[in-house]
Amino acid sequence: MNLILMGAPGAGKGTQSEKISTKWNIPAVSTGDMLRAAIREGSELGQTAKGYMDAGQLVPDSVVIGIIKEYLASDVCKNGFILDGFPRSIPQAEALEEMGVKIDKVLSIEVKDETIIERMSGRRVCSGCGASYHVKYNPSEKENVCDKCGKSLYIRDDDAADTVKKRLDTYHSQTEPLKAFYEKKGVLVCVEGQEKVEDTTALVFAALEA
Ligand code: AMP
Repeated sequence: MNLILMGAPGAGKGTQSEKISTKWNIPAVSTGDMLRAAIREGSELGQTAKGYMDAGQLVPDSVVIGIIKEYLASDVCKNGFILDGFPRSIPQAEALEEMGVKIDKVLSIEVKDETIIERMSGRRVCSGCGASYHVKYNPSEKENVCDKCGKSLYIRDDDAADTVKKRLDTYHSQTEPLKAFYEKKGVLVCVEGQEKVEDTTALVFAALEA
């Protein structure tokens, strides 16, 4: 299964892509995670990306298309993949088509902007492995400590309230038009994001099994 996960920032793409990855045994890749890893490594690509990310804008298409192209060409993707956070613009979707990548389903997790703003204030990310938590909806067992690798959790710079609003604007203006793009191709499925992670997962699995 070649799958794209769409949704506003904080809609739960990362959490759900992990669940799908485990159930269907296909790798999940997040361009946001790749860019944050590049920032942690201090690479040139990371430095370029950071300015855009902190401003709530999209990193230039050429940068993300380059990293995703390399990943999709690798052996790990030969039995399918989940793209979390890519494509995020029409030119990125067109680039995917030009690579000859066939997409089976595009799953959009729908969550209202007001809910997103409330949710983002509680998001925490692991400084070691990048795993994502929420203080209320998906807490780690021990406060501020990652269940998976034991490293400390932090608040992403771009989860600050002002930046979240900018990211939502960016989502509505540049990413949401992709829904019509994929609907025309007959591969779009929309799911309402629920308060509880497991309730959203049940809807996501049902949509993918349909
Ligand atoms: P995410 O972790 O998916 O919320 O992504 C965090 C930030 O990384 C976004 O707000 C963008 O600045 C950048 N980013 C992630 N994926 C993409 C993409 N496909 N195209 C452009 N920028 C991206």
